[in-house]
Amino acid sequence: MMRFTLLGSGTSTGVPLAGCRCAVCTSTNPKNLRNRTSALIELPSGFAILVDAGPDLRHQCIAHRVRRIDAVLYTHGHADHILGTDDLRSYNFIGRHRISCHGSQETLASLRRSFSYIFDQSSGYVGGLLPQLDLHEFPHEGVIEIGGASLETFPLPHGDVQVTGFRLGDLAYCTDFKGLPDSAAKKLQGLKYLFIDGIRYEPHNTHNTIEEAVDIAARLKPERTFLIHTTHSVDYDEVNPLLPPGIELGYDGITIQF
Ligand SMILES: [Zn+2]
Ligand SMILES: [Zn+2]
Ligand SMILES: [Zn+2]
Repeated sequence: MMRFTLLGSGTSTGVPLAGCRCAVCTSTNPKNLRNRTSALIELPSGFAILVDAGPDLRHQCIAHRVRRIDAVLYTHGHADHILGTDDLRSYNFIGRHRISCHGSQETLASLRRSFSYIFDQSSGYVGGLLPQLDLHEFPHEGVIEIGGASLETFPLPHGDVQVTGFRLGDLAYCTDFKGLPDSAAKKLQGLKYLFIDGIRYEPHNTHNTIEEAVDIAARLKPERTFLIHTTHSVDYDEVNPLLPPGIELGYDGITIQF
């Protein structure tokens, strides 16, 4: 069995939004507390793959008692998916090994730009031990092997960026996109679990609305669908009961054995 944990279900700002006094941001319901969207996949061997290293990474790892990170799969290079990369150092110290970081050419280029002190040997960095990370490029569309697991990848449209979606067994993870290409839909038949960007009800240029995500789920018919990357306009107790059967709001800490 593999284990999937949703470490964060929130949009790029996180929820609560710093400084905001709206009903969701001041809510005491833990399901309205959304760290930046990311996930952890633990393989039967114990090998642990982090999906995206956002700015909340350290807090998420402490909250969910993440003991091990062996590899990172980056979906794309936006700040809310990469800015925790420096905190991977902890797992270099604890695990005493380097961490393999996997992404498309475009994503790795963003990582190299944003973290030149880590990846550019000529940057002249002087200080504590840098994160020990090895970059591995994968094609947007194909099958990649990480820690003995085979993940099928496919590109998803997200404004001027291509996001990597993936399928591992009967679970698929599709964050940050708007509109599902037919090529991806073909790979997403017969799913048990689908994690899908459904940001809010109001239209968005580069993210599925909740209605768009629900339409995609109706087309793919997974057994269970979880909406992720949601904003502070989505109150868990108000919105979750309105969703069709089999579709629910994701929340931080959801765990799936698959
Ligand atoms: Zn994002
Ligand atoms: Zn708010
Ligand atoms: Zn994004």
